[in-house]
Amino acid sequence: MASLMSAPAAPAVRISATQLLIDNKWVPSESGKTFATINPSTGEEICQIAEADAADVEKAVRAARAAFERGPWRKTMASERGRLLHRLADLIEKHADELAALESLDNGKPVSVAKAVDVAATVGCYRYFAGWADKVQGKTIPIDGDFFCYTRHEAVGVVGQIIPWNFPMLMQAWKLAPALATGNTVVMKPAEQTPLSALRIGELIVEAGFPEGVVNLLPGFGPTAGAAIANHMDVDKVAFTGSTEVGHLIMEAAAKSNLKRVTLELGGKSPNIVFADTNVDEAVEGAHFGLFFNHGQCCCAGSRVFVEQKIYDEFVEKSAARARKRTVGDPFDPKTEQGPQVDQAQFDKVMGYIDSGRAEGARLACGGERVGDRGYFIQPTVFSDVQDNMKIAREEIFGPVMSIIPFKTAGEVVERSNRTTYGLAAAVWTRDIQKAHAIANSLRAGTVWVNCYNVLDTRAPFGGFKQSGIGRELGEYGLQQYTEIKTVTVRL
Ligand code: ADP
Repeated sequence: MASLMSAPAAPAVRISATQLLIDNKWVPSESGKTFATINPSTGEEICQIAEADAADVEKAVRAARAAFERGPWRKTMASERGRLLHRLADLIEKHADELAALESLDNGKPVSVAKAVDVAATVGCYRYFAGWADKVQGKTIPIDGDFFCYTRHEAVGVVGQIIPWNFPMLMQAWKLAPALATGNTVVMKPAEQTPLSALRIGELIVEAGFPEGVVNLLPGFGPTAGAAIANHMDVDKVAFTGSTEVGHLIMEAAAKSNLKRVTLELGGKSPNIVFADTNVDEAVEGAHFGLFFNHGQCCCAGSRVFVEQKIYDEFVEKSAARARKRTVGDPFDPKTEQGPQVDQAQFDKVMGYIDSGRAEGARLACGGERVGDRGYFIQPTVFSDVQDNMKIAREEIFGPVMSIIPFKTAGEVVERSNRTTYGLAAAVWTRDIQKAHAIANSLRAGTVWVNCYNVLDTRAPFGGFKQSGIGRELGEYGLQQYTEIKTVTVRL
């Protein structure tokens, strides 16, 4: 692990939006309360942000309802919704450097990654769904009798959206873009750790010309503002990305309130299966990227690396060597591959898992320590000789900790891969095409990658089997989650 801790400090980043966006106006919270957003590289406060709670959710839902039922949004043509989304994408592109810096400052990811991945994918997501806005079509159905029967795909209504901190701007786009393309109005809560980019994009949403009440942004905490959205009787749907634990709470709130529609994108413990017939160096690099990308803070991280016994020792040695080379340090240094974890709580949680791996007898092949003495930096860590029943092989770590686990046969590894409550993603590395397809079919996961990892694209659906979620985001399948289907039957 190469440390870049002496790299220069973050450049001054302009912060213009720190309040709530309700009805296209920037307002303080009803309570007047604010909270600090923290720079994870230093642990210091960046600025204070208005803190939304139930009273603000009430105001925002009223604005979103009015916009949906009566406002100009109601009459905005589908093609015009597409134009607005394109305009937003143009504005994001124009402010790419500034948005990347904001994301890097608030989240800790390298600014180069924020620009090349987060901003670029955000722009791509808004453009993709902009294209769909005037292409969502129903069917005509030849029912029995003398009738004309057709379906309409109508907006669900007021949509609550609760997003996480690992890809703040991109998760906002995954949720907003399909909701707006299909004509919904939105009350969104960004994660309390990373509100800055979501609010700056709020300014661009207003600038792009979206009418009042269409997008309302409420920074705040989960048990207060988040729960108020999930429990609200006048919210028609809630879309959530975050932990499986909170996913249960969201679904419970929906069940106990108004049976609002629920889509959930939750945790994972994804198996990444490496057969001996693969190109080992490519698989080492792929597994490294599959786990360490975004500091291990990906719901689809390949955190159980199953490696066929014949190449196990070689794979462990090469993976540890690769992890040792990973540059950890200041996110604003162009050479940095890995910045800090997002906050103290995540840092403590990840270090706790490293301790448990040691205590349960896994072998530490590299890493395992904090980097520097301020901020939340952790060494890229690789454990070998991991057993399926160890905590590090069962629970989502959400940090830079790889577990490498040996296996002998294909049948055995599929069974062990599926022995989890999660089912978000999986991967297989082999040169044998029959084996690749057979394994892909047998894995109980929403995404399977063959000889690659983390290939996510706006056009392809993403989501989980089992307790990794309900519904799909992205692509045409993602779009379907934001419409209700109406059957109209006309007597002729
Ligand atoms: P993580 O543990 O990765 O931070 P969480 O599931 O706690 O993931 O958080 C994801 C999002 O859910 C954040 O915006 C957070 O504020 C929100 N959240 C947390 N708890 C609740 C809750 N009880 N109800 C609604 N939203 C919540």
